[in-house]
Amino acid sequence: MTVLEFDRLRVTIGNRPILREVTLTVATGEAVGLVGESGSGKSMTVKSVLRMLPAGAAAGGTIRLLGAEIGKLDEAALRNLRSRDVAMVFQDPRATVNPVRTIGDFLTEVLRDQGVSKAQARQRAAGLLADVGVDHIDRRMRQRPHELSGGLLQRVVIAAALATEPKLILADEPTTALDVTTQEEVVAILDEQRHKRGTALLFISHDLELAAAVCDRIAVMYAGEIVEILPAARLHEDARHPYTRALLRSRPGAVPPGARLETVPGTPQAAFDAPAGCVFADRCGHATANCFSVRPVLRPVDSGSAACHLLEESPHGA
Ligand code: SF4
Ligand code: MG
Repeated sequence: MTVLEFDRLRVTIGNRPILREVTLTVATGEAVGLVGESGSGKSMTVKSVLRMLPAGAAAGGTIRLLGAEIGKLDEAALRNLRSRDVAMVFQDPRATVNPVRTIGDFLTEVLRDQGVSKAQARQRAAGLLADVGVDHIDRRMRQRPHELSGGLLQRVVIAAALATEPKLILADEPTTALDVTTQEEVVAILDEQRHKRGTALLFISHDLELAAAVCDRIAVMYAGEIVEILPAARLHEDARHPYTRALLRSRPGAVPPGARLETVPGTPQAAFDAPAGCVFADRCGHATANCFSVRPVLRPVDSGSAACHLLEESPHGA
């Protein structure tokens, strides 16, 4: 079963392309990582799921969420999906939680909106906090957001997301604002809880390794396009697109201590002034004249698929 399906999604602002033909599916209970540098179109892809695109943006192609075509839903149906079937977790938990309400009130309100009785809501809220590893629950319920650390507050946001028993969680850089240790803890909680509940996840990150640690499949985005899709477990072995490989080499852990860290040369490409051919051509060390004029499409290679001319000519040439 497919929870979410993007079929040739295109987004333009004015006449500038932001997303160019994004095709991707998320199956029931599956976690898909959408990875790329900032500006690659990850957030725009997520925002289009619930029709939250900025003013002036126009979308083409189709998005199906739990079988419904998003573009054809009326506002009431869309609100239903937002409040019940799909939960969102953003980078900054302080933007999600009402700063003046207590944590207990915030969570019980989410539950009350789901039809949970007043008597049960506080108990359920406490249970959810326990699920996401929050301790001293009675005290936490009486506290306000400013009294909690970013990591603790992000756990509260995850608890609220789980409260609606969604089929899909959209998480946009949920741990980027946190320090590395907290980041790992919060990601582990999200991973554990979504497995326990069978919730599908679309996980947006600029960190390939982090996404691979929590996702079943990885989709790599560049300049508004998906350039490679592959199983997370095969990331190191099967990554074939020059951009994915450059991202893998640019991780501190990827080079022996003392060796020079290779970053992806050049600056990220904006979709609207990408070359007519391959979007990565300006930064790619393998680019030929053909790459600048002919656009490569995603084709099966090894365990996944990649969009690169090099792989069409010789399957092991990259
Ligand atoms: Fe590089 Fe050409 Fe492949 Fe694009 S199509 S990634 S420019 S080799
Ligand atoms: Mg973003």
